[in-house]
Amino acid sequence: MSEHAHWLSFARWTPLAILTDLDGTLIPFAATPEGARPGPELVGLLTELASSPGLLVAVVSGRPRESLEAFFPSSPGLLLVAEHGGWRRDGAWQPAVEAAQEEVDDLTFALRRLAALHRGALVERKTWSVAFHFRNISGESRDGAVVEVEHLVADWLRTHARFEELRGAEVLEVRPARMDKASAVAWLRERTSARARLLVLGDDVTDEDMFRDLLAGDESVMVGAEGGRATAAGWRLDAPADAVGFLRWLLAVRRGETTDEAATRPRRIETHAADPAAPSPYRLLVVSNRLPELRSAADSFDVRKQNVGGLVSALGPALKARHGLWLGWSGRIQARADPTRFGLDQAAEPARAWVDFPEEWHSRYYNGLCNGALWPVLHSFPGRVRLSDQDWEAYRQVNQAFASVAVRLVGPKDTIWLHDYHLLLLAQRLRERGHEGPIGLFMHVPFPGPDVFFILPWAEEILTALLALDLIGFHTPDYVANLRQCLATLPGVAVGDDAVEHRGHRTHIGAFPIGIIPEGFQEPAAPSAADDVASLMRAISPSRLVLGVDRLDYTKGIPERLEAFARLLELYPEWRRQVSLVQISVPSRSDVPAYAEQRQRVEAIVGHTNGLFGDGAWVPIRYLYRSFGTAQLSLLYRASSIGYVTPLRDGMNLVAKEWVAAQDPDDPGVLVLSRFAGAAVELTDAVLTNPWHIDGLARDLDRALRMGLE
Ligand code: UDP
Repeated sequence: MSEHAHWLSFARWTPLAILTDLDGTLIPFAATPEGARPGPELVGLLTELASSPGLLVAVVSGRPRESLEAFFPSSPGLLLVAEHGGWRRDGAWQPAVEAAQEEVDDLTFALRRLAALHRGALVERKTWSVAFHFRNISGESRDGAVVEVEHLVADWLRTHARFEELRGAEVLEVRPARMDKASAVAWLRERTSARARLLVLGDDVTDEDMFRDLLAGDESVMVGAEGGRATAAGWRLDAPADAVGFLRWLLAVRRGETTDEAATRPRRIETHAADPAAPSPYRLLVVSNRLPELRSAADSFDVRKQNVGGLVSALGPALKARHGLWLGWSGRIQARADPTRFGLDQAAEPARAWVDFPEEWHSRYYNGLCNGALWPVLHSFPGRVRLSDQDWEAYRQVNQAFASVAVRLVGPKDTIWLHDYHLLLLAQRLRERGHEGPIGLFMHVPFPGPDVFFILPWAEEILTALLALDLIGFHTPDYVANLRQCLATLPGVAVGDDAVEHRGHRTHIGAFPIGIIPEGFQEPAAPSAADDVASLMRAISPSRLVLGVDRLDYTKGIPERLEAFARLLELYPEWRRQVSLVQISVPSRSDVPAYAEQRQRVEAIVGHTNGLFGDGAWVPIRYLYRSFGTAQLSLLYRASSIGYVTPLRDGMNLVAKEWVAAQDPDDPGVLVLSRFAGAAVELTDAVLTNPWHIDGLARDLDRALRMGLE
């Protein structure tokens, strides 16, 4: 059946029930919730739909009931669901949750205090829930606000188990668990017969709860977010105006007034839970923990999604040439997620498939095992390792779930390319499911020797699972050597020159350092980016710029770097007022306590150093807790005299390569680079330094500042 015929027959179906979100779905977003309201035409259309025979219509919104009541005061047949399922109007309003209204009072108070510190922030209190809106906070302060709100909410949730957090478009909301829009789906089903088909329209992550609860024969339409967020919806419309046009068409079809083929109707975007018997069109599957996302408007406040561009441009050509598909976690946490179900968007470039995680996996697999155990072990920070059997169990489950989805996406002889330490068991799980094709793993992080790796009680299990791979890639020969040493401890493993052999299967291991696309850091910047950087340069002028750029991670050695800068000012007072350090720290993993502590430490050193050495005309260290786009970074790289890249340990460190690419060939700066960054293997002309040694680092900085052009 053609798509047009499909929608015609769907539109004529009786009984039919329509559930539609309002903001972003039928009306465009405005700067404030008050700024957006349905016009009389839309109110009229919904009222007419609701009074048509065989048709039930519900507006399902996150707004408070007062606001919905004000929009639809005289549309008696129209069902209303407010506060994400908290209130329902079928004639009169009824509450649909059992929670005390005062429970979020203290959180509301704390969020309002935070909002007072960020211009444009808005706190919206609803009956049982509270929402923090980021939309109108300016770029400068927004990333910091996101991290602060996430912290506060995570702390509060630890003692309020009956609540959950919910991320929407530019908003973070805390509400009673199980109060979600899916309850509206069940409510509508109760009001109609078992033969009824449902149509759900939505744009936001909160609407995904409705999409997911639909049955065969129902339809779900995602409005907007072109090419962006992963969705469980089956169809897409581009904008609210199209959604309204589509509903108008549906009403006309039911009235027998049109069968217009040219009318706007949804386009199919994806299928899910694909038929395992159907041959897959994909010959290459890339799997990484997190799915790379094109930034969509709905996600633009999530600063952790902004730095995936490099990997996409690195892998994009391979995916294109081999007709590849990318599988990963959608970034969504759902109380009722079923991780064996996946979404698939074949129209995206590159095509991608995703799974949602239940909350427990996010806390145990991702924050617990990956960030709390594997990351510190692989970076050789034994003191930071946190081991938990439950976390390990979750790690196994996630690898298992990815395997069960992967084998449904490609054939048993196709190529699978895994990325990073989140998926160390996956190759073995794939083999158990009969995958015969080549499987490779690229590790974006370092690998330690056996003395550190065997801190993991599951070291042998991991190493054995790695033997199911055909190829393991690292950034440097040292990491290769370390893995070989670890593997040599296993019984029955023969370690050869470029491969290890176990029960007749060979696993090749090699160094394949990742590069950058240098042109991307050499292009002239747009005026808006240039303005931002120019005002920063004016502020530090006439002193020379020493630049640090990192995620705020303890492996990056930011406190040590700041202390070394302070030591420089102490040992060589002639540099005072002559140099300024700008340290950009991108918020990262802020829900892991070790990262929050790191932030406090860094801020304390900045305050102390500026207090000690600064004066009215000169601020020694400017600390920017936010992320920048590539255009601004390139300008800053080029404007700096010193690239100050001193991680305590780092798999590669792309900032070092980007900094070099951005230099003016006629007047380049000097790169001070940690010998413990993978990049030091290739960038041997940098001033290589030991970041653990504060005095030495200060001396190397002094040497770099004095270096002549030749
Ligand atoms: N980056 C960015 N905006 C920022 C800071 C960093 O886009 O404000 C990018 C930077 O250009 C680089 C990446 O983030 O491509 C960081 O990669 P790196 O290998 O240095 O460190 P990682 O964060 O992967 O440990």
